[in-house]
Amino acid sequence: MADFSTLNQAMRGVFRSGRTKSVEWRRAQLMALLKLLDDNRERICQALKEDLNKSKMEGLLFEVDFARNDLINCINNLNEWTKPEKVKKGLINMMDKVYIRKEPFGVALIMGAWNYPIQLTICPMIGAIAAGNCVLVKPSEISASTAALLEEIVPKYLDKEAIQVVNGGIPETTAILKEKWDYIFYTGNSMVGKIVMRAAAEHLTPVTLELGGKSPVYVDDGVDLGIVANRIMWGKCTNAGQTCIAPDYVMCSKKTQDALIDHIKKTLGDFYPDGPAKSPDYCRLVSDRHYQRIKKNLQGGGTVAVGGGTNDGERYVAPTVLTDVKFSDPIMQDEIFGPILPIIPVENEDIAIEYINDGNTPLALYVFSNNKTKREKLLHSSNSGSACINDVFLQASLPTLPFGGVGSSGMGAYHGKFSYETFCHKRSCMERELKMEALNGMRYPPYTETKMKR
Ligand code: NAD
Repeated sequence: MADFSTLNQAMRGVFRSGRTKSVEWRRAQLMALLKLLDDNRERICQALKEDLNKSKMEGLLFEVDFARNDLINCINNLNEWTKPEKVKKGLINMMDKVYIRKEPFGVALIMGAWNYPIQLTICPMIGAIAAGNCVLVKPSEISASTAALLEEIVPKYLDKEAIQVVNGGIPETTAILKEKWDYIFYTGNSMVGKIVMRAAAEHLTPVTLELGGKSPVYVDDGVDLGIVANRIMWGKCTNAGQTCIAPDYVMCSKKTQDALIDHIKKTLGDFYPDGPAKSPDYCRLVSDRHYQRIKKNLQGGGTVAVGGGTNDGERYVAPTVLTDVKFSDPIMQDEIFGPILPIIPVENEDIAIEYINDGNTPLALYVFSNNKTKREKLLHSSNSGSACINDVFLQASLPTLPFGGVGSSGMGAYHGKFSYETFCHKRSCMERELKMEALNGMRYPPYTETKMKR
């Protein structure tokens, strides 16, 4: 195992040298990162194919181009973002300079998850570099091909000493977490999130935790179920359901449930004309452990109304819909993180709201309704990291919207300027002159009656 203490000290030395603080260095690294993405599009897509059978379209849309767009936005705004921020001042500070400097924290640790192994490492890197930090990236060992590729190519493009990638599993990560980092940005499950936060607490290191959970969907009566089926199943089938903001389960009336099933069958026929098993566009589960867990979930409650097929050799699970599921069923106890969609019949939106609020705060909430009063009621009566009305995922695609969880779905947010701000300390600064001491004398002891009357 690498000596992470020495690595940490070396990176700390690089940060102290001050070179990562210059805006020129940051810009050069971000431009080099752009070149890395452009030069390696094919290799990245190939690695994603090996890890998850991810199609090129999903590889580009959700990983390479997603990160690329965030990166270009950052490069274009770098000068503006890095400027000290002027703030309003009161009468007694009229002669002073008062502003916020955005300081890098120092050496940031970024721990990625396996489901979007490029997006979830590169996007936080963009913010950390833009803010002038040194960065250690620890990709997930589960997406092994992508992790190996990152370890190989990052040093070829970026400042080898200031930005490093290390690979390893639990023993390595445990050793890395013993060291003092100045910021930790973790993406993954909440159980490990607690481990990360405990380790960070030892050094009082600030953290961003991008976690998961069950993201509910409420489907109102009277909506166009053809469109709803397309949008929900796109969210459920992308990456074979292994998406943190994937629609986890649907709540709707019994009548809507029965009609929705027919539309879902049609949607899946349109998406995968030769069946999902033969489609080059449909992913596989990332590992045997994840596959076995998802396979068990097929018997997690309700009735299989669509799909249900599996293939052990390929870690294939068909897009599956379970109907008449109950809140108490096993499949409703944890985030599914696979291509299974339970539908729970509910009498009205009030029951849906009650259920959402009884559970952990979701990462995303989806509502399909034409009724603006109902949409607002669902938003007003609940909370979630993000929400999208009448679609899925797209709230995460805008760099102007922060992406992150709340409560058990995480803390902190990123994307666009929010990534940059995540990795900065906002340092309050006041600059005065050694003048006008007569006026300043008012605040010094002795605190006479005359001074107090002022
Ligand atoms: P994972 O197993 O790849 O773990 C994530 C990171 O934690 C990896 O770098 C891994 O090496 C490290 N790790 C794992 N076990 C550890 C341990 N015992 N001690 C220290 N470090 C350890 O990914 P995962 O947790 O299976 O990811 C899936 C989860 O992540 C889901 O819950 C999903 O919703 C969530 N997720 C959230 C987001 C988000 O942006 N909020 C994005 C993707 C995934």
